[in-house]
Amino acid sequence: MTRFDALGGTAVGLALAALFLVETRAPLRRRVRPRAERLATNALVALGAALVVRLALVPVGVVVAGAAERGGVGLLHWWPVPAGLAWPAGLLLLDYTMYVWHRLNHRVPLLWRFHLVHHTDLDLDVSTALRFHAGELLLSCGWRAVQVAVIGPPVALLLVFEVVFETATAFHHSNWRLPHALDRALAAVVVTPRMHGVHHSTRQAETNSNWSVLLSCWDRLHRTLRLERPAEPLVIGLPAYRDPLGARDLLALPFRRQRPAWPR
Ligand SMILES: [Zn+2]
Repeated sequence: MTRFDALGGTAVGLALAALFLVETRAPLRRRVRPRAERLATNALVALGAALVVRLALVPVGVVVAGAAERGGVGLLHWWPVPAGLAWPAGLLLLDYTMYVWHRLNHRVPLLWRFHLVHHTDLDLDVSTALRFHAGELLLSCGWRAVQVAVIGPPVALLLVFEVVFETATAFHHSNWRLPHALDRALAAVVVTPRMHGVHHSTRQAETNSNWSVLLSCWDRLHRTLRLERPAEPLVIGLPAYRDPLGARDLLALPFRRQRPAWPR
């Protein structure tokens, strides 16, 4: 696991670096805050999140997947899935349950307190993909345990999924201007920067769409896909949080009195 973790970590690191370069050369949206300011803030917030992912989220998944494998527990063990289909089926189920988890993060008040930190970013780029409160990741350890116990993926598949998931998250948060036709063609299969940008819009109806992480089919399935939007420029963030927040404020945010993100 350690060797795979190192390999996977390197792959994700390279993807982040490549996306940082391409979003610099071909930006999709005009920035409203200085890039250096946001990079510093997001890096500080990301530090705690990265520690929780490596020390808790990934190990929890591995331990539960190992136990499920030994005990023959989970859908992939109960269903007579042909050997060649177990991995694709497992990937689909893991990706779908992350769609569900993302929606829950917006719907359940306790989860939203933490997920809100990610949505208060006033620009969207590859650094936003790392800006998650450590508490959100800690809470997602519980979801990961349930997800893996119900699906029963092989440990190796779970580790591959983690790399794919993190790379997809970096890609769709990036500020990379892909040619419109290419973005549209890709959006038929995976979540693209334009598609996920809509989810970070200040308009509540737009935020309540495009919850998918890797494959866009889950939004299509639940009729929550939104590729078209009004011609006016996309404003990133939440209406109630228009001032830039520093790392300390962001880390304290879930524990403060909440104000409605979309004041009436
Ligand atoms: Zn969200």
